[in-house]
Amino acid sequence: MPNYATPPVTFARGEGSRLFDTDGKAYLDFLGGLATTSLGHSHPTVAEAIAVQARTLLHVSNLYGNTVGPDVAATLDRLLGGGGRVFFANSGAEANECAFKLARKWAGPGRYAVVSAYGSFHGRTLATLHATGQPEKHEPFQPLPEGFRHVALGDLGALDRAVGPDVAAVLLEPLQGEGGVNEAPAGYFAAVRQLCDERGVLLVMDEVQTGLGRTGRWFGFEHFDIRPDVVTLAKALGNGVPIGACWARADVAAAFVPGDHGTTFGGQPLAASAARAVLAVMEAEDVPARAARAGERLRAGLAALPGVTSVRGMGLLLAAELGLRGPNATGASRSAREVALAALERGLVVNPVTPTAIRVAPSLLVSDDEIDEALDVLAAVLA
Ligand code: PLP
Repeated sequence: MPNYATPPVTFARGEGSRLFDTDGKAYLDFLGGLATTSLGHSHPTVAEAIAVQARTLLHVSNLYGNTVGPDVAATLDRLLGGGGRVFFANSGAEANECAFKLARKWAGPGRYAVVSAYGSFHGRTLATLHATGQPEKHEPFQPLPEGFRHVALGDLGALDRAVGPDVAAVLLEPLQGEGGVNEAPAGYFAAVRQLCDERGVLLVMDEVQTGLGRTGRWFGFEHFDIRPDVVTLAKALGNGVPIGACWARADVAAAFVPGDHGTTFGGQPLAASAARAVLAVMEAEDVPARAARAGERLRAGLAALPGVTSVRGMGLLLAAELGLRGPNATGASRSAREVALAALERGLVVNPVTPTAIRVAPSLLVSDDEIDEALDVLAAVLA
């Protein structure tokens, strides 16, 4: 269906930070399938785990147990500080849907609303679309499910007014990814946590894009010294194999009883085997620390590029503001999209996250040489 533009290139193969198109041309992948292939392409440990599992057991449904999903749940719970329970889904949007249903069930009748931020992105299902704070994306699909409202990111007064007696949860990304790699002001998340505690509403952190090392910590919320009640994950968890997860404090998770929520595929052995291998590699390689170190190099390099006016983000989720000022000397209008296309022609994959900024989200195992190579391409394009 024509819901995506015609792709500029078709990829046939990937290895580490490299992609190869159908003509065999090599590209350096600094987008990672939208911050998803955090261990790079075809990681041997993940590939082997998937192959072994494919020969062992793919699927049994959640009416029966399997030996893989519980391992992944236990590891996620440990990384998240313990004391929680996990529901597995197949995507970020589904992980968030689980969070919404859980929040409604936990809060009880009359308390159902979710407050999220303008500029956020939480998914494309009808409910996650409404949670997404981009009203222009809502219009063609009205009426959307009730119970979602938005406040400006960082505006505590607006949040205070929005969290009325009908609110069950506040939903925030630690760093807005799709909305432009937007950071909240210092102190915001600690104040939000306090407000949620005072009002008795859940704080749900959408870590679908930021989770599992991307920001230089295991989870983005760790930068702010807070503990959420619910955390949603997807993208990096399967390194490209579709899997999502909704973690909640055990007493919150206890609001669900058998029959309240479900999924045919969620937590099935194949996807869970990928996630188990991903988490093992991430722990063995200490990818959050690697992402923090590599992120410093990449950030400094981006800031020094011709025309770049600012760099924002954390770890290896960064956006460079390109200082574009409308039409160039030849009268052609310039945009981040054109910069990204020019980079693609030179063999570098980056993403125009806004009309004036490009986003980079490479593998968390990216090498210094690969960072320098990507910066050289961008420097040539921008010059
Ligand atoms: N939440 C965040 C923060 C995201 O960045 C995304 C996707 O980009 C989603 C949710 C939706 O995830 P999915 O596309 O897997 O449904």
